[in-house]
Amino acid sequence: MAQWQTFSDRINHVAPSATLAVDSKAKAMKAAGLDVIGFGAGEPDFPTPATIVDAAAQACREPRNYKYTPTPGLPELREAIAAKVLRDSGYEATADQVVVTNGGKQAVYETFQILLNDGDEVIIPTPYWTSYPEAVKLAGGVPVEVFAGAGRDFEPDIAAIEAARTERTKAIIVTSPNNPTGAVWSRETIRAIGEWAVEHHVWVISDEIYEHLNYDGAKTAYVGVEVPECRDQLIVLNGVAKTYAMPGWRVGWMVAPAEVAKAASKLQGHLSSNVSNVSQRAALAAVAGPLDEVYMMREAFDARRKAIVAALNEIDGVYCPTPTGAFYAFPDVTGLLGRPLGAKGTVVGSSAELAAALLDEAHVAAVPGEAFGAPGYLRFSYALADDQLAEGMRRFQAWVAGK
Ligand code: GLU
Repeated sequence: MAQWQTFSDRINHVAPSATLAVDSKAKAMKAAGLDVIGFGAGEPDFPTPATIVDAAAQACREPRNYKYTPTPGLPELREAIAAKVLRDSGYEATADQVVVTNGGKQAVYETFQILLNDGDEVIIPTPYWTSYPEAVKLAGGVPVEVFAGAGRDFEPDIAAIEAARTERTKAIIVTSPNNPTGAVWSRETIRAIGEWAVEHHVWVISDEIYEHLNYDGAKTAYVGVEVPECRDQLIVLNGVAKTYAMPGWRVGWMVAPAEVAKAASKLQGHLSSNVSNVSQRAALAAVAGPLDEVYMMREAFDARRKAIVAALNEIDGVYCPTPTGAFYAFPDVTGLLGRPLGAKGTVVGSSAELAAALLDEAHVAAVPGEAFGAPGYLRFSYALADDQLAEGMRRFQAWVAGK
């Protein structure tokens, strides 16, 4: 290839988003008339609550929303997000600490663009959400994986984190409730990470997008609450996608020390300016409103969680710890590798091959653990209708049984 035809090293070194890839493959198969059950992307199947949609419809009719708003977001939305931090986490934040972004993903991206110089390291408890290491790499940073598997219920080990620390460690990511494992990290672990970060001057990036989705009495612990001294080096990421069933509206945010928020706003001023006003008005109705709908969704998710974990554990060769948060099950599927599966007796050597064969032969879409730094696992999002879930599990079980 001629030199002018090659793309940048930056883009060549980044992997595509596997969650979105599985989702779009499943949706394309469905559009082609195939009956696919999609456990791929973490996308609530509920409609966005009507009051939120009404606020957006109203916003479309108001000419003030046809103009740019300040880059870091509508002032009233930033205020509402600061008030939400007090309501849900119980500590004070101010509107100038908030930047509204195009989904939580943009907040992740901007965080690393702001913090990292080439070669700076970010400790990423693994399994991790697929976009974290790519956002780190796009900022010139080096992702450092610290693995905790099903054997410890996916709870990070602070001693392993400390062993991974070097002179270049700039930040650590906390995700609890966790994507992809569904684990809710204990208060002790959250506190230990916060204290460790303060002691060693490491930024904490706390992705709290699943904060309201926990089960079996598990409670989300917040770094900013457990270790208040950490707040000057804490960047909280969040958004409306999961709490209010609004993934397509693309509204996320960061709550960070004011200087970080200012830097994010500077970056965003060149990148994307303000988030769509219609979406911001919808997000304002969501964030300033009650949490009733999320509690209803949580009940539905809880029933599905129990159903999927039971169904997965019935399969010989699959072991699924019980998740207590988010809407993901993350079973260890190593027992299915190297043995004949399905009517054709297909033999797979990795979870990536397993996910591909399961989709092709049984029309069940799940994301391979490789996408999350955890080969040997599959991620099932159970944010889908009960009958779909039951049918998907029936197919998986039958396929493993050679049917
Ligand atoms: N965060 C969701 C997931 O992990 C949505 C897709 C994505 O952005 O990765 O499936």
